[in-house]
Amino acid sequence: MKNTNNNNKRLAHWRRTKIIATLGPSSDSPEIITKLVNAGVNIFRLNMSHGSNDDRLILVDNIKKVTKRLNKQVAVLVDLCGPKIRIGKLVNGKINLKEKDVVTITCGMAGATNDKIPSQYKGLYKDVKKGDRIFLDDGKLELVVRSINKKDVICKVKYGGELSDNKGMNLPDTEITAASYTEKDRKDTEFAISINADFIALSFVKDKKDILKLKKYLRSRNNEIPVVAKIERKEAINNIEEIINESYGLMVARGDLGIELPAQEVPLIQRDLIRLSRKHNRPVIVATQMLESMISNSQPTRAEVGDVANAALSSVDAVMLSAETASGKFPLKSVEMMDSILREIEAYQIKHNCFSDSNDLKEVDRMTSEREAFSYAVTSLTQSLELEAIIVPTRSGTTAVALASDRPVSPLVAVCPDNNICRRLMLHWGVMSFNLEESMTHSWKQMSKDITKKCLRGDKGKRILFVSGFNDIVELNEPVIKLVSL
Ligand code: PEP
Repeated sequence: MKNTNNNNKRLAHWRRTKIIATLGPSSDSPEIITKLVNAGVNIFRLNMSHGSNDDRLILVDNIKKVTKRLNKQVAVLVDLCGPKIRIGKLVNGKINLKEKDVVTITCGMAGATNDKIPSQYKGLYKDVKKGDRIFLDDGKLELVVRSINKKDVICKVKYGGELSDNKGMNLPDTEITAASYTEKDRKDTEFAISINADFIALSFVKDKKDILKLKKYLRSRNNEIPVVAKIERKEAINNIEEIINESYGLMVARGDLGIELPAQEVPLIQRDLIRLSRKHNRPVIVATQMLESMISNSQPTRAEVGDVANAALSSVDAVMLSAETASGKFPLKSVEMMDSILREIEAYQIKHNCFSDSNDLKEVDRMTSEREAFSYAVTSLTQSLELEAIIVPTRSGTTAVALASDRPVSPLVAVCPDNNICRRLMLHWGVMSFNLEESMTHSWKQMSKDITKKCLRGDKGKRILFVSGFNDIVELNEPVIKLVSL
């Protein structure tokens, strides 16, 4: 039985692609956090490159109070800077660089003068060589190294502009020898542990050793916060298989990636990373400049709308907003716009029954573990049955993640006794999670009634597919797949 128009409408209310919003000065109050959650944010990102821990603690407190009051599962992702290189504080707060000017970058903060730009990375003078390009402020300004004099790097300005304190520096021609998991990252990891963060993202990952260092530190603190690798440098692309094996998920960090590599290479890298993540059953996030113009305008450009739409069409797990929500003028409108683009695309995908392009799956050459074969079979079932939802009682979240990776057309509700796992599932395409107290006794019938009452429409005559793959939350002797009529 194919989906009817009515069914299409019903399924479309459930947004599958998750939204991550970065918090900052434009979005720190409980009022705006409430609005963002109601507008559909699934994960809040705390960017450790900006702000202080005191401010972040207030933010986290606000998130916890708001989500408790609204009874919504919203996760927190702490984004570590990694070896991101930045300039320091300028003597006058800003400096204007003109084309063909000669300008000096000095290593360490002590040497900064009116016309010397300090580099926070003290080893810069050892790594760069004559002719290397230095990009500043997300690539807006470009310098070329002319010579190195002790700890000063003398450069010629190729493309100028205004430069202000602490802007980022990218060196695509230079082999950086800076430590990958820095002392600041270690302190920020402590912060993430102290707030019970749901994910830690690590910037500028080079290879699996960077991820292993962070995981080792977490283990030494008896902690296992899932680690997301931010893919933003060439070395990471070359070592992607080993990185993905050691990571919980990937972020396509297009901001730095598009400076470290030619920008025209980013779309195909994004495509490959999404496919690879699906092959390995890992969640993948597309990040940066998705609705960039909404930092200052109330409407996005048509090209930005197309960018978000294309990410949804490729069934990415999550899309991310950065400055749009952290420091822009329209944080709420940005989330609302993203939500409506995603819903538009998903309604189309439901209509055409094409959440997962079968060619995609063929191309990614999916692995065939028992669990994957099982979830593939469930997805096939959902294509022929008109279901209200798939309900997945799960302890670790694994069954829900395996099912979601096949992009089933029916909404997927994970029912889980552990709130940490419920929040973790917020990163996964299509999964809504629902906390059910373990002390309750459950039967399939009772569970479908409870969940239908709380979060489904409960149309009479519709059916729910229960899939309990690998756990014992519901009566042990029940079959693994069960169809229940409402
Ligand atoms: C990026 O570079 O795209 C990114 C997400 O990282 P950050 O915002 O930390 O620069």
